Amino acid sequence: MYDTATDQDKKIIIAIDGYSACGKSSTAKEVASRLGFTYVDSGAMYRAVTLYFLDHNVDLENQQQIAKALKEITITFKYNKAERRFETYLNGGNIEEDIRRMRVSNMVSKVSVIPEVRSAMVDLQRVMGKGGGVVMDGRDIGTTVYPDAELKVFMTANFEARVDRRMRELESNGVEITSDEIKENLATRDRIDSTREVSPLRKADDAHEIDTSYITFEQQVQKIIELARSRMKALSNA
Ligand code: C5P
Repeated sequence: MYDTATDQDKKIIIAIDGYSACGKSSTAKEVASRLGFTYVDSGAMYRAVTLYFLDHNVDLENQQQIAKALKEITITFKYNKAERRFETYLNGGNIEEDIRRMRVSNMVSKVSVIPEVRSAMVDLQRVMGKGGGVVMDGRDIGTTVYPDAELKVFMTANFEARVDRRMRELESNGVEITSDEIKENLATRDRIDSTREVSPLRKADDAHEIDTSYITFEQQVQKIIELARSRMKALSNA
């Protein structure tokens, strides 16, 4: 039914970046599934590190504690067939639900500015993307992790649409939250993510921008699939 990539197709890397709650992850997952590609949620990796730091009281000012903690962390993803989703594992334990909670969301951008954390995650993301056939979403995938990605997408949406989307997502996961809390969290993360020194969030010059404020989920997915198919075709004919 779907437009699955064949073995003859070039296995490309698709980098999807953008602000929080623009629909990146759900779109990236669906694109990966339809193309038969692997999906890597780089935000989940920063969230996993944050959860570990919180649970082990790692002091964000203490380089030694940070370096030690990073050595103790192993992050993997496993596909859960029943839930039809990739889930994040930290040192062998499933943390998919824990990393979506507000205690992690409120801390993650502060952990993500730490250069040692970024460097460890970027190394891991490059290993995960080796060989291509990957859709990776985040903030710096097209600019830093894979500056040569064959397809780069930058997703945007207006603030109201993003707050609305995050509210529905959290409510459907049974999380009680007010729209003011969501606004505060998104605005703070936008500010920290786009002003940090090491690989701040920005659109790569060669990224295709997709504004998701007024289009449907299916339109978002289709648009990226079309771009991917035409890129793969061009590369196969090259
Ligand atoms: O994508 P998600 O909202 O789960 O990402 C959580 C946080 O992780 C972001 O707000 C950002 O601080 C950090 N992040 C990052 N670089 C990435 C992906 C996420 O700094 N590539």
